[in-house]
Amino acid sequence: ENELEKVEILGSKTIHVGYKISSHICEEIVSKEASSTYVIITDTNLVKAGHLDTFSAGIKASIEKHRPQSRLLTYVVSPGESNKNRRTKAAIEDFLLSKGCTRDTFIIAMGGGVIGDMIGFVAASFMRGVRFVQVPTTLLAMVDSSIGGKTAIDTPLGKNFIGAFWQPRYVFADISFLETLPEREFINGMAEVIKTAAIWNEDEFTRLEKNTKQFLQVVTNRKANGHVDLSPILDHIFKLVLESIKVKAEVVTLDEREGGLRNLLNWGHSIGHAYEAILTPQALHGECVSIGSIKEAELSRYLGILSPVAVARLSKVFSGYGLPVSMDDKLLQSRINGKVCPVDVLLKKMAIDKKNDGSKKKVVLLERIGKCYEPKASYVNDEDLRVILTD
Ligand code: NAD
Ligand code: ZN
Repeated sequence: ENELEKVEILGSKTIHVGYKISSHICEEIVSKEASSTYVIITDTNLVKAGHLDTFSAGIKASIEKHRPQSRLLTYVVSPGESNKNRRTKAAIEDFLLSKGCTRDTFIIAMGGGVIGDMIGFVAASFMRGVRFVQVPTTLLAMVDSSIGGKTAIDTPLGKNFIGAFWQPRYVFADISFLETLPEREFINGMAEVIKTAAIWNEDEFTRLEKNTKQFLQVVTNRKANGHVDLSPILDHIFKLVLESIKVKAEVVTLDEREGGLRNLLNWGHSIGHAYEAILTPQALHGECVSIGSIKEAELSRYLGILSPVAVARLSKVFSGYGLPVSMDDKLLQSRINGKVCPVDVLLKKMAIDKKNDGSKKKVVLLERIGKCYEPKASYVNDEDLRVILTD
C-alpha cells in the first residue's frame, strides 16, 4: 500500500508516485528544500475535501522536526478555469508580498491543472523565479499538466496565452486524491491516459482495453459523501497513472521546449481543441479530446496510414471509459443543449493552433496503436479534414 515509484525526468528522479504518501511528500519537501517560508496554494474544493488540513498538518510537523524557524502560509483560490487569469495571479502575488515572502519562498501547488498552471506561473515570475512543487490532485493533472514545466494563465483572447516554462523541483502524485474527485473529472482525465498509450505504449493500451467495465463500475459507485472506494481497482489506477507519467516524462526529456516530438502528446488535440472552442464550458477538455482523437484516427485511416481495426479499438476504449466518441453521444448531447459544430467553424478554430506553420495545418497522425506516423505533427489539407469533420 505504501509502495512508491520514482520516475526520471530531465535527468533526475523527481516524480514520485504512490498511494497515501502525504507524510512522504511533506518530509521530502521540508527536509530536502530549505526555506524560511513554505506556502501551500490550493482551491476551495480541495479544502472542502479535507486535503488542505491534511497537508498543512503534515508540513507543520515536518517543519517542527527539521526547521523550527520556518513558517507555513496557506492561500486558497476559487476553483475553475474562469479563475486561471491575471487577476487571480496578481492577488496571489500581492498576498505573498504582503507576507514578506522573498527569493527563498517555496511554493506547494496542490490542485488540478488550473492550480498547477497558474501557481507554476506565479513561481516562475515571483522575485524572478522561486522553487515550487506540483501536488496534482486530478487524474488529468497527475498524468499530464503537472509534468513538463509548462505553466500559464488564460486571457480573454485565448487559453494559456501568457506563461513560461518553469520546472517544478518535484511532482508528487498521490493516487488517494482521486478518491474525492468527482466522477466526471475522473473520466475526463482518462482521455489523456488513453491518448498517451495510443501514441507510445501498445502494451499499456492493451491493458487499458481489458479493464473498462470494472473501471466504470467502481468510479460511478459513490459513497454518501460523494467519494469513491478505489480499492478494487487500485492496482489498475496506479499502473495507468505510472505508465502515462513515464511516457510524458520521457517525451519531455527528449524535447523539453516542444521542438517536435513533444507535439505527439497533442494527438487528438488539433481537432479536439476545435470542438472544445465551441463546446466549452458545457463539454470538458477530455471529452472533446476523445471526440478529436477518433476524428484524427479516422483522418489517419482516410489517408491510408492507420487500419480500420485500430480505429475501432480506439473508439471502443474511449467509450469504454465513459467518454463520448462522436457528437451523437447521448450524454454529451444532454450537456451541450443544442450546440452544433459546423465544418467551417471547426476548420476556422483549427487555423489558430500553435502547432501550425502559418496557414498550414498540422495534425499528429497515428500509424498503429502505440506508434505515430512521424516523430512530429504532419501537414494535412483542408479537403481531407473536411471529409472527416462532416458528420
Ligand atoms: P481543474 O484544475 O479545474 O480541476 C477540475 C475540478 O476538480 C476543479 O473543480 C477542482 O477544484 C476539482 N478538484 C481537483 N482535485 C480534486 C480532488 N482531489 N477532489 C475533489 N475535487 C478536486 O481541471 P484539470 O482538468 O485538473 O486541469 C485543467 C487545466 O489543465 C486546464 O487549465 C489546462 O489548460 C491545463 N493543462 C495544462 C497542461 C500543461 O502541460 N501545463 C496540460 C494539460 C492541461
Ligand atoms: Zn489535453
